[in-house]
Amino acid sequence: MKIRNILATKGMNTISMRPEQTVKDAITLLTQYNIGAVVVLDADERLVGILSERDLIRAVASDNNVMVQPVSSVMTSNVITGTPQDDLQSVLQTMTNGRFRHLPIIDRGAMIGIVSIGDLVKSQLDEYKGEIDTLRTQLIEGEA
Ligand code: AMP
Repeated sequence: MKIRNILATKGMNTISMRPEQTVKDAITLLTQYNIGAVVVLDADERLVGILSERDLIRAVASDNNVMVQPVSSVMTSNVITGTPQDDLQSVLQTMTNGRFRHLPIIDRGAMIGIVSIGDLVKSQLDEYKGEIDTLRTQLIEGEA
C-alpha cells in the first residue's frame, strides 16, 4: 500500500502554525484537535519544523517560562518527510528506526498532509484483515 492511499482515506487536513506563535498556542492547538504533533510553516507555507508532545515535555522540563517562548525555539527543524509514492512498509521502517511518530508528506514541493504511526498501523491491520478474508473465502470455496 502507498502513502497516497492512506491519505485518501484519512484526508489531507493538516493542522499547522507559524514559528513565531507561542508554545502556549501550540498546546492549545494539540488539545483542541486531539493530535500529537503540529507542523510549523513559514509565511510562504514552507515546512520549517515539527513540534510534538515530546518537544513540549522536554521544553517544560528545562524552562519555567516556556509558555511564552516562540515555537521556533522548541521545534525540531530538521524534518524528515515522505512522498505520496512511498510504500507503507518502508515508511513504517523509517519511523521506527528514527523513533518518531509523525511524517509530513510533500508532493511537488508542497505539504499535502501528515501521517502518524497510528494511521500506518491501522492501514497495515486493515490490509492484513482484507488478505485474511480473501484467503478464508478461497478456502471455503475450495471445500465446497
Ligand atoms: P513523535 O514521536 O512524533 O512525537 O516525536 C518525537 C521527536 O521526533 C520530537 O522531537 C519530534 O519533534 C521529532 N519528530 C517527529 N516527527 C518528525 C519528523 N517527521 N522528522 C524529524 N523529527 C520528527
